[in-house]
Amino acid sequence: MTKPAAGPSPQRQGQPRFLPRCPVCGASVREVFVVEALGFGVDRCLGCGLGRTRPAVPSEDIGRWYPDSYYGRENARFNPCFEALTRLFRRRRARFLSGRAARGPVLDVGCGRGIMLAALRRLGYEARGQELNASAACHARRVLGLDVSTGDFLVAVLEPDYYQAVIFWHSLEHFPDPAEALVRARALLRPGGVLAVAVPNFDSLQARLFGRHWFHLDLPRHYFHFGARSLQALLARHGFRVVRTDHFCLEQNPFGWLQSLYNALGFPSNLLYDLLKASSARDETARAHRIAGALTVILLLPLLVLALLLTILDAALRQGGTVELYAVKEEA
Ligand SMILES: [Zn+2]
Repeated sequence: MTKPAAGPSPQRQGQPRFLPRCPVCGASVREVFVVEALGFGVDRCLGCGLGRTRPAVPSEDIGRWYPDSYYGRENARFNPCFEALTRLFRRRRARFLSGRAARGPVLDVGCGRGIMLAALRRLGYEARGQELNASAACHARRVLGLDVSTGDFLVAVLEPDYYQAVIFWHSLEHFPDPAEALVRARALLRPGGVLAVAVPNFDSLQARLFGRHWFHLDLPRHYFHFGARSLQALLARHGFRVVRTDHFCLEQNPFGWLQSLYNALGFPSNLLYDLLKASSARDETARAHRIAGALTVILLLPLLVLALLLTILDAALRQGGTVELYAVKEEA
């Protein structure tokens, strides 16, 4: 089992002596942990609990942290069984959104391969997507025939006051300045339009218990680590009224528990996640970690049962591993 190398990595040298204050509430922040193997640390606001990755990778350099395997070769991210499950979850999510946003134009920011957009189109929405990764956007256009543009959401040509819903499904935390993204989203929404945001929950039981081993940290691709409280505060500051906050997500939360448990037990970081990927990436990982891979499989059933029970518990405590917020654009 690998252990992170000791001592500060080159990326963390020269960091400021005084940490910048929280961009959401202005309170002081403190460093909560460092992931030496990657060369990044995470700070937490003492007021609203917002987490922040430090140092932040300049946006012009972040592309190198998204290898092709992040989206999957031929745009199949996981093995066929998990791909089918992913499509099922996205269809359920689209149906759920359709109960909250009137039919009309919807925009999915960071739509990836367009699986949820395709489900929204089937439900009668005019589906539009924006995606930074050219290969994922190309899949959405060519294979699914969706209206998806490649490029930065902040400068994309999009019609203001037009959309019934703007969706940030696990994408807001990838923005170096999420406030800018929310200002843009608000300008694009019709009055009364719906903003749907899902993020990993930095206030969750799993985040607090596992710290730097938490699966959903995803350093350094996540610039910020929201909790329900910090996200609600940010939305309110930018003219949104939160109407619903959900803590139960079967697609994300059990896996967050499961993979974090393996990480904390000393298995190679995110090994199970890599083993579930599409065959090319999976075979490479399996060859590199034969014994750990076998142990992972042996422990899978008991840990999965534990993860499902913990998912029910954290939702009941409203401390789910991810949170989904629905908010309405307030009149100015
Ligand atoms: Zn704060």
